[in-house]
Amino acid sequence: MAKKKSNQIKWDYASAPESTGHIQLKDRYDLFIGGKWVKPSSGKYFDSINPANKKVIAKVAHANGSDVDKAVKAARKAYDEIWSRISPAERAKYIYRIARLMQERARELAVIESLDAGKVIRESRDVDVPLACNHFFYYAGWADKLEYAFPNRRVEPLGVAGQIIPWNFPLLMAAWKIAPALAAGNTIVLKPAETTSLTALKLAEIIKDSGLPDGVVNIVTGFGDTGAEIVNHKDINKIAFTGSTAVGKIIQKATAGTGKKLTLELGGKSANIIMDDAPLDQAVEGIINGIFFNQGHVCCAGSRLFVQENVADIVIEKLKHRMKSLIIGDPLDKNTDIGAINSKEQLDTINKYIKIGLKEGAEMYQTPCDLPKGGYYCAPTLFTGMSQSSVIVQEEIFGPVLTIQTFRTVDEVIQKANNTPYGLAAGVWTDKGSRIFNLTTKLKAGVIWANTYNKFDPTSPFGGYKESGYGREGGLHGLEAYVKLK
Ligand code: NAP
Ligand code: MG
Repeated sequence: MAKKKSNQIKWDYASAPESTGHIQLKDRYDLFIGGKWVKPSSGKYFDSINPANKKVIAKVAHANGSDVDKAVKAARKAYDEIWSRISPAERAKYIYRIARLMQERARELAVIESLDAGKVIRESRDVDVPLACNHFFYYAGWADKLEYAFPNRRVEPLGVAGQIIPWNFPLLMAAWKIAPALAAGNTIVLKPAETTSLTALKLAEIIKDSGLPDGVVNIVTGFGDTGAEIVNHKDINKIAFTGSTAVGKIIQKATAGTGKKLTLELGGKSANIIMDDAPLDQAVEGIINGIFFNQGHVCCAGSRLFVQENVADIVIEKLKHRMKSLIIGDPLDKNTDIGAINSKEQLDTINKYIKIGLKEGAEMYQTPCDLPKGGYYCAPTLFTGMSQSSVIVQEEIFGPVLTIQTFRTVDEVIQKANNTPYGLAAGVWTDKGSRIFNLTTKLKAGVIWANTYNKFDPTSPFGGYKESGYGREGGLHGLEAYVKLK
């Protein structure tokens, strides 16, 4: 049979030109306010950089207080005049449309995410972008069923939501924030992180194409004071923040007594626990995925490994062996496992912690490799021989750095795993259901995985205990954060 000529466009990610072809990137991005592209009132723009080669991808507008005020006014007008008045079924149609347009442009979104954030294309393509679309689909489904979501209650939106997101999952965090807020009938002012504005701006284009009424979603880019201008704006009813615990504490103080509803998704130092009866090869894959997924820039990363003493040697040997096969390289290459560190600042932070670990007397192992030149890279790293009080055991590093501790009994590992100011996530690897039940009941963390790690789904709530924040995103709980229940 004659071979049919493929009409599929071939796209070579590795040699993708950054401003041509199927990725449409402008040289300069303005603010998305009231459904229009608006110049920043200061006239200032900052560079968005590709951390894999330090090249400027585009210039992005720096919003100040007066721009944030414009965005809040646009959001308020859209809330009063349109979004709070149209039927929930109408709202759902727009959210479905955004989800479908995102799917149509999934490849472009994935490439831009990898360019701007340094994350590997396999992850942007197979995890971040599909999950982001699924969040819109999932919450679109709830928009006209709110009385079933909260039976016997009158459900009202909150008004204007101010949303601030970090740089580790730029598009996905925007989806986690925007989709439930829209479904519940709120309007939005969202600020992406300084180093990763581009997919949020692409989402603004998609939102415009979807015909969503002007001002329902506003995207203000910036850094420095931009986030605080949102937090402190008097006409905002809700703040949703994902980022570091330090900034979360500032926001908690700033919003106290203002009547603003607040949810905080903050840092973590999650325990990944391997019992001696666990399927060890699977567990090793779970450890690798737990700490090296997205270069370890994951709030719920399994960054503290606990291995039962009698299997510790074999697990560490298998882990080192597996680490040798990890490919560190160009984020746009489909075969790359570990991409670039998001920014110079973050690479400096990680290297600072590696130095502290060595100074504390811990033993280090790194994947033997030549790091790619010209970008921000860090070899996958593990440390053994620390004490529970070591700085690298206690503090969030937010990079591809794993600490390994051993334990003898279940009680001991529960005590050690809970001995942290954080409480975002944990993982448990064992063959016994009773052990899973025992450990998952006693671990103080918002999300606990058994025999898997870093699995996310829009139907499942996500969020922390203790200094990892409060409130939940995802599932029905995520909707609750955006409604008033009477
Ligand atoms: P970050 O420094 O706290 O920044 C997060 C966002 O807040 C950025 O958009 C930032 O803007 C903005 N911001 C900074 N100072 C502010 C202020 N005073 N008021 C209002 N907004 C302010 O965190 P990051 O370094 O981007 O992200 C890494 C952290 O996020 C890690 O700790 C990680 O664990 C956490 N995280 C948590 C979750 C979760 O679900 N729990 C998910 C992902 C990440 P600029 O930096 O652009 O100025
Ligand atoms: Mg960037």
